[in-house]
Amino acid sequence: MPRSKRAAGAAVRRGAERGTKSGTASAFSLGNAARGAEGNGEAEPSKLAPGLYLVATPIGNLADVTLRALRVLRSADAVLCEDTRVTAKLLARYGIAAATQPYHDHNAERVRPGILARLKAGAALALVSDAGTPLVSDPGFKLVRAALADGIAVTAVPGPSAALAALLASGLPPDRFLFAGFLPPKEAARRRSLDELKDVDATLVFFESAPRLAASLADMAAILGPRPAAVARELTKLHEEVRRGSLAELAAQYRASGPPKGELVVVVGPPERTATSDAEIDRALGVTLAHKSLREAVEDVASATGARRRHVYARALALKGGR
Ligand code: SAM
Repeated sequence: MPRSKRAAGAAVRRGAERGTKSGTASAFSLGNAARGAEGNGEAEPSKLAPGLYLVATPIGNLADVTLRALRVLRSADAVLCEDTRVTAKLLARYGIAAATQPYHDHNAERVRPGILARLKAGAALALVSDAGTPLVSDPGFKLVRAALADGIAVTAVPGPSAALAALLASGLPPDRFLFAGFLPPKEAARRRSLDELKDVDATLVFFESAPRLAASLADMAAILGPRPAAVARELTKLHEEVRRGSLAELAAQYRASGPPKGELVVVVGPPERTATSDAEIDRALGVTLAHKSLREAVEDVASATGARRRHVYARALALKGGR
C-alpha cells in the first residue's frame, strides 16, 4: 500500500495495538539473556539470544539503518513485518535472506498467540514496521505487553524515528516535548484533543497526513494560539523540506498551496510564558527562603511566578551559595 494511503489509514485506525496515544517511553527491563549473544561487541554473532527484538528501520534513506539493526535482522529466526513487501526492499538492499511474517493491525489478534508460542519455545524474532521505530504509531505494543507478561526478553534496537528527526530539524525547544501521534481526523474531536494539549508546557510533535494538514494547522492556530511551528516533510528523502513559521502563517501557506506531497510531521513550540525577571525570582526566593526549606521555597516561587522549577532551583542554589 502506498505510504501516504497507509498513513491516512493509520490515523483513522489508531488501534490499541499502536503506541500512538501515550507518546511516552516505557521502561522495559532488559534481561541479560536478551543482550547476551547479540551484545554490544564488534564480533558478528552466529546466534541471537531468544526474545523479541524491536528494530527501527529507515524513514526514507536506506543508509540510515544501524549496523546493529542489520545484524539482528540477519540473525533473527524470523522478521515480523507490518508489510512484508516493504521490508523485503530493505532486506534485499542489504543482502539479508530472512524469513518474514506479516504482523499488522489486521492480523495481530489472530497471529499473536502463535508468535508468543515461538518466542516461548526459544525463538529470536525481530519486529519491524514499514518505516521508523515500531510501536510508535505502528503495530507492536500489545505483542510487547504479552511477551513481557510471558517472561520473554524484549530488546529495543533503536534507530530512525520521524518524530525525533522532525523535532531536531524544527529549531524548536527540544528539552521537553510531547509526542501526540495523529490527531483525530474529524474536526470536533481534533479540536477537543488540541484543547487538552494547549496548556502543556512542552514542544508538541504530531504526525499528520497531507490532505488534513491545512485544516489541522488552522485548528492549532485557533486553539494553541500564536506559536512558532515547523512542518517537516519527506525527512531523509530527496525532497526533504522543513517550513518554519507561526501556526497561522503555515496554515495560510498550505491553505493556498493545497496539500503537499509526501509524509509530514508538525512540530509546535511550547506556550509562551510571561517571563518573570531573574531579579523578581531572586526577590521572591529571598523572602521565602527566610522561613521555608529550599525545596518548599522553590515550589512556591515556581508556581507563583510561572518560572520553570529547574530555573528557580538553580537561582535558589546560587542565592544560598552566595550567602
Ligand atoms: N513508527 C514510525 C516512526 O517512528 O517514524 C512512524 C509511523 S506512522 C504510521 C507514519 C507517519 O510518520 C507519517 O504519516 C508521517 O507523519 C511520519 N513520517 C514517517 N516518515 C516520514 C518522513 N520521512 N518524513 C516526515 N514524516 C514522516
